[in-house]
Amino acid sequence: MRTAGKIFVVSNRGSYTLKETENGIVTVPSVSGLVSAVEPVLKQQGGVWISWGGREAGPQTKAVRLPIPQDNPLYYFHEVLLTPEEIQNYYHGFTNRALWPLCHYFLERCTYDPKEWSAYVKVNNKFAAALLTEFSPGSVVWINDYHLALVPGICRREMPDARLVFFWHIPFPHYDLFSTLPWAREMLQGLLGSTIIGFHLEDYALNFMDTVRNLLGAVIDYENYTVSWQGRLVRVRACPMGIDFAAFQDLAGKAETQAKARALREQIGTEFVALGVERLDYTKGILERLLAFENFLQDYPSYRGRLSLIQVAVPSRGSVKAYQQLRSQVEEAVGRINGRFSEGHYRPVHYFYRALPREELVSYYLAADIMLVTPLRDGLNLVAKEYVASRIDEDGVLILSKFAGAARELKGALLVNPYDIDGTARALQLALTLPAGQRRQRMQALREMVRKQDLRWWLQNFHLGSAGPKSGEIIVPRRVIKYSARQKGTAVDV
Ligand code: UDP
Repeated sequence: MRTAGKIFVVSNRGSYTLKETENGIVTVPSVSGLVSAVEPVLKQQGGVWISWGGREAGPQTKAVRLPIPQDNPLYYFHEVLLTPEEIQNYYHGFTNRALWPLCHYFLERCTYDPKEWSAYVKVNNKFAAALLTEFSPGSVVWINDYHLALVPGICRREMPDARLVFFWHIPFPHYDLFSTLPWAREMLQGLLGSTIIGFHLEDYALNFMDTVRNLLGAVIDYENYTVSWQGRLVRVRACPMGIDFAAFQDLAGKAETQAKARALREQIGTEFVALGVERLDYTKGILERLLAFENFLQDYPSYRGRLSLIQVAVPSRGSVKAYQQLRSQVEEAVGRINGRFSEGHYRPVHYFYRALPREELVSYYLAADIMLVTPLRDGLNLVAKEYVASRIDEDGVLILSKFAGAARELKGALLVNPYDIDGTARALQLALTLPAGQRRQRMQALREMVRKQDLRWWLQNFHLGSAGPKSGEIIVPRRVIKYSARQKGTAVDV
């Protein structure tokens, strides 16, 4: 079936993980920022989500195309099947051991393996082939993230006039770093098959254009953010993703969510509660945060027994060795801190190794006096925005890493350098002693920003979804974000 005038989303993982059972294939909803952003658009407009369903393909396995929901389809889920070798070399290999650490500035963690690169090329061709079977003229194609950089280039050859919107969700590093990748030129050529390439920050867009100029010799118009490439003008846009502010606000307003938050606080039992929630990933700075918390309890003994940290670590990429090592290190640090500072009923760190559904997550946000979002590097960070959107009481303090993309927007947070362990400990002390009036002022400013630049605003900027204009030019000014890449505006820099 072909679907005209609809939206075609292409991403490595989609809205569902597919599991084989005795009764056939079962769909398990996935939780991610991308799903929250994309699924409402697909449900509203119809279309197809093309992604890997998480299954390992055997010789007999057939890819499925599922109506969602099954009895009253609003869109279709088109599965791209990957073999165990492809999963190993493309997913655990090239994307997780080369592109992810490279783009997050962890060059020492990068492995550049030609076998893994070949798998990346092959899998990108699979995704492109799936898109080509679905696509119908007049539709918008929305390709997501670093897993699929070659898809626009492959599809452009077959669909010269198609509108291909690409969004790169992680940082795009400086040219010096990106050029260490032996296949950097091929990656860039693939991306330049797009009509528009979006990044969260102007810094990332500038890094991309510099890299394209240096490695491909393409002509860049830095005023208009365009790249001249093979007779086409490719637009580059910087626009940070927003969240569904209203949805978080509504959830936070429910009596049930608030009751859960109160119950959580009672269970923790301390005067103050701090919270960290993220995938267990070395970019997220969990270990450094635990060290800062340990230093804090050591240097400010009056808070022992009065402040607990809830750390939710969401299982992630568990078959990659670096992630297994990180888990051991984090759990060892939790054990050490609890061993050092527990007393009576007091437990300093409450550690959970699992993912929380959104309803529960919001109750955690409500229960936390302090939210610690301290990644060593993060393309944006949605958790920081979700905390703010959930704080309908206009209270709570956000401690945010300078190296999270969201720091550029979230004036009102206490900004920290997560590598500076003592600095983060000092920020905790500041957060705990901030007068109520100042907390409110900061939270009000944060909420206003997250409310204005929400998910709908972001989708409009890329003409994605029915919230966007029907036709015509892109509606955002040339530079969506007016701050300069060099300007570091911080409310408090501890
Ligand atoms: N999330 C969730 N349950 C959890 C932890 C996180 O649903 O227990 C969601 C969270 O609401 C957010 C997303 O996962 O929408 C994480 O996005 P973020 O940009 O913060 O980090 P990423 O994991 O994409 O690097």
